[in-house]
Amino acid sequence: MSLFRPLVQQMAGYTPGEQPQESGWVKLNTNENAYPPSPRVLEAVQQTLEGRLNIYPDPLATEFRKVAAELFQVDPDWILPGNGSDEVLTILMRTFVDQGQLVSAPYPSYTLYETLAEIQGARFQKIQLNPDWSWPASAQQLAADSKILFVPNPNAPSGNRWSDADLLSLIPSQGVLVLDEAYGDFCDQPHQGELLKTDRGNQLVVTRTLSKSYSLAGIRFGFAVAHPDLISGMRKVKDSYNCNTLSLAAATAALKDQDWMQENTAKIRATRSYLIEQLRHLGFEAVDSQTNFVWCTHSDREHERRYQELKRRKILVRYMQFSLEEGTLDGLRITVGTDAEIQHVLDALQEIG
Ligand SMILES: *Cc1c(COP(=O)(O)O)cnc(C)c1O
Repeated sequence: MSLFRPLVQQMAGYTPGEQPQESGWVKLNTNENAYPPSPRVLEAVQQTLEGRLNIYPDPLATEFRKVAAELFQVDPDWILPGNGSDEVLTILMRTFVDQGQLVSAPYPSYTLYETLAEIQGARFQKIQLNPDWSWPASAQQLAADSKILFVPNPNAPSGNRWSDADLLSLIPSQGVLVLDEAYGDFCDQPHQGELLKTDRGNQLVVTRTLSKSYSLAGIRFGFAVAHPDLISGMRKVKDSYNCNTLSLAAATAALKDQDWMQENTAKIRATRSYLIEQLRHLGFEAVDSQTNFVWCTHSDREHERRYQELKRRKILVRYMQFSLEEGTLDGLRITVGTDAEIQHVLDALQEIG
């Protein structure tokens, strides 16, 4: 006898990257930001701690939504906050998808979409990308009947960014295109929600996270930007107090300090160029990333050995494996850390061979 729902009984569950609890690791496996958050975040949290933790947080996140709305040049009713953008993805699934309906995503990409679809009892379709990470010719037709098409842009684990025209052509006929812009701030030409203002904007949702570019993975904060008609439905689904008083204060302060975020993302972009160049020098193929990580493969296919060898040296990168129609694709995803960390991993890769 199983006490579980059959769907839960059968599913494997999502496996997040390793988070070693002891120090001494060079941690380049979960795309955290190597630089600290803005000092204004710490001030805001400190102030909040001295305030009123005995009362519930603002369920409407009024102040946060005002600041986020300014950033995207929309009204505050276009913004919905979440306990990490992963929670926003859950809210989207529960708002727009019924049991048995179709959810799609490119493949390889972020594997959480499939887990969320499984929990909801939806059908999940992987749209397999071309070897150069472009969309297959059939993508538009495959995506058409989806209730949600999730697209990380730039993509993970590859780091490439697709064109606006590509994305607009993929909007499902009776569904929503969710642009997961977790890495939007790391692009050479950052996103600013432009597609939301096109005439297809009423079927688009952009999601953002404070975990990567704002160095706040430990705070758990993300948000959605979408037309108020879509946001109002999502608001019915979300828990009233899904964001707590401290995370709201931290996220609001972080968004207000754009200079801090811009400075850090600029440093990461510079380190990224160096990492890509040096990986190629070492004989790897590395994607021209628009994110804070680099996907690389080697023609000798010894990715797992290198991952293990790095781990022995207390350097954690992400070893990833994807089953494709024509076999398996695997490779290493390396987070762009500080210059020192990246030099360390490059030296180790050289030594390992
Ligand atoms: C990191 C990441 C997220 C999750 O962000 P959180 O706000 O930390 O939940 C969502 N989507 C993609 C593609 C990511 O890489």
